[in-house]
Amino acid sequence: MKDELYGWQQMIGHEWAVEMLSAAIRHERVGHAYLITGPAQVGKTTLARLFAQALNCTETSLEQRPCGVCRSCGLIAKDHHPDVRLVLGEASGRGRVTLKIDQMRELQQSLSLTATEARYKIAIIKQFDQATIGAANAFLKTLEEPPRNVILILTAADSDTLLPTIRSRCRTIPLRPLPQPLIKTALENRWQVPPEQAEKLAHLASGRLGWAVTAAANPAPLNERETHIVALHTALQGNRAHRFIQADKLANDVERLPDLLRTWLSWWRDLVLLSWGNQPLAQLTNIDEQVTLTRLLTHWTPEQIFSCLKQTHTALWQLERNANTRLVVENLLLIYPLPQS
Ligand SMILES: [Zn+2]
Repeated sequence: MKDELYGWQQMIGHEWAVEMLSAAIRHERVGHAYLITGPAQVGKTTLARLFAQALNCTETSLEQRPCGVCRSCGLIAKDHHPDVRLVLGEASGRGRVTLKIDQMRELQQSLSLTATEARYKIAIIKQFDQATIGAANAFLKTLEEPPRNVILILTAADSDTLLPTIRSRCRTIPLRPLPQPLIKTALENRWQVPPEQAEKLAHLASGRLGWAVTAAANPAPLNERETHIVALHTALQGNRAHRFIQADKLANDVERLPDLLRTWLSWWRDLVLLSWGNQPLAQLTNIDEQVTLTRLLTHWTPEQIFSCLKQTHTALWQLERNANTRLVVENLLLIYPLPQS
């Protein structure tokens, strides 16, 4: 792995967002709060960190910021800058994190102190959609009366899930999934991934470069996904009795369930795309499943397939809202069509 690019060049894709943020700095029209939205690992924190570097870079020419080499840029890249805080939620079970009220109070206090060495004091608060109501309200105070020279950058999957009072005070930057060819080229050129592997990862990534880069360096996410696909095949081949037993097993592994359901969701989405016809195979996420998917198209109606996609989506939604895990998985497996004898 090597990376010789500095500053904004490190950002792959999302050019409009880079242009908007760098123009704000050049024209000295920086807002005091930003909300960067988009799917997990699409580049939200990378963008936030580069913006923080650009804001506090000590390079004299505005055009050259962030330089990537000054002390400030270096410290921010490592999340070690005393005036740039990265705030992460705390693990709260079911593979989730939660931002707590105490974290927001502590942040508010630290932001009220003057910057020790930088132009701006910056807080990058990740996954703000996982803040408790109490935490969001505590944060609102900071947002409403921001201390001087403080810049707040929130990230979230979706702006709709945030309190309107928070949303309306931030400039929103929605990051979209990146196109497959861009991810493939980036993996080959920047991370020296062999073309065949880059092709597969670019499909599986669903537009999330960060996921592809992680999976290229470490087989764990790929193996995990493989296990989820096998579990789905097992479920679809099993009768009702088998599915009850399997649901019980899956429900016990609470931490992995959200990821499992997201994989299943992408699989059903592929099948829906294929059922609509005229969708090139190149658009599939689960490209290695195309033989199975094409075969199953002849077994089920498009309505059945679409219903499975919807129900999987509902299951994930319920899980994220603390529904009874076992019931959610059982219901889902019983809704999926039974194998044809
Ligand atoms: Zn710099």
